[in-house]
Amino acid sequence: MTSLFNNYARRPISIVKGQGTIVEDQTGKSYLDFTSGIAVTNLGHAHPAIVEALQKQSEKLWHISNLFESPAQEKLAEALVADTPLAHAFFCNSGAEANEAAIKLARKHTQKHVIITFEKSFHGRTFGAMSATGQDKVKQGFGPLLESFRNVPFNDIEALKSAAGDDTAAIMIEVIQGEGGVNVLDQAFSDAIKEICEEKGILLIVDEVQTGISRTGTRYAYEQTSLKPDIVTLAKGLGNGFPIGAMLGSQEMFETFGPGSHGTTFGGNPLAVSAAQKVTDIAFEKAFIDEVNEKSEYLLQLLQPILDSGAVKAVRGKGLLLGIECNTEDASGIVQKAENAGLLLVPAGPSVIRLLPPLTVTKQELEQAASILKTIIPSTVSTAPE
Ligand SMILES: *Cc1c(COP(=O)(O)O)cnc(C)c1O
Repeated sequence: MTSLFNNYARRPISIVKGQGTIVEDQTGKSYLDFTSGIAVTNLGHAHPAIVEALQKQSEKLWHISNLFESPAQEKLAEALVADTPLAHAFFCNSGAEANEAAIKLARKHTQKHVIITFEKSFHGRTFGAMSATGQDKVKQGFGPLLESFRNVPFNDIEALKSAAGDDTAAIMIEVIQGEGGVNVLDQAFSDAIKEICEEKGILLIVDEVQTGISRTGTRYAYEQTSLKPDIVTLAKGLGNGFPIGAMLGSQEMFETFGPGSHGTTFGGNPLAVSAAQKVTDIAFEKAFIDEVNEKSEYLLQLLQPILDSGAVKAVRGKGLLLGIECNTEDASGIVQKAENAGLLLVPAGPSVIRLLPPLTVTKQELEQAASILKTIIPSTVSTAPE
């Protein structure tokens, strides 16, 4: 028996400490953490500069609420919207909350209610974000859901064209579907979205909760596409493990979120903002992002022999958000074998394993992870039933 709800399929180890890419469990066994807490600890565990920022802030002020001005929030907002089509930020505590804010802002701004989302998308577990999500397993048993989300196949231009109408407030999309299997937006689909949004006056919400904060080799993943977002949502990597989310919106929407229109008690809390400010100071540096891209190329090179051997179907993704599509629907079996061998991974659907190392991972750690994968993936294939 447990005094916790059973809503997570927990693995039977407990991680007690971490440093950089390495974590240690309760028995003293250490692992390479290629989950980063699901794309959260992008700068590794216990990053000294973030520890220092939090420690300093914790001695000054923990919480004061949004009743008062916040120069620290202003500064972080400026850093997040710099050199983007966005101009303003709203801070909250999670990805789902950022998406709720985006849904509310888009509906209030356009006075329309339909939001188009995509099959296999994931936007969070609150009622609006769950209704937006394109996976039945997430919604099972909770109906009736919110109406007015229209779910269409990802990368299907014709389906999108027929779904977009006069009632449509926004299109909401992940540039790479993280939970849905590391599925990458096509160039042609990106161009079509841009065109449809411009033609019909539809807003574009890009959910960068998993892809944002340099994870894919640019500050935001949309920067590698033709998309021009009106709204961007962030969370996961923004606080390196300290809970914080953000919704960024364009200049035009400033008036729509006037005083009293939306809010949250903890949003933009001084501790969270101090962590996120340090994260963005580091992760938005050009030299840092260049390294992410070098590491990505190196990891792809290391994985190439596994792909060439036919042991896996495909390697997808960008930057350090990579997915390996296996030949069987046994991603969780491979994840288990990797864990036994000292490498923590996370599945993305039944047949894809996700590699999410911290962006600070070393080349040597990438080599270690690849050699573990080489030993476990072929053995999984040869023992798997047809
Ligand atoms: C994880 C995730 C969310 C939900 O974030 P929470 O902080 O768990 O609420 C939303 N969108 C995407 C793309 C995600 O990966």
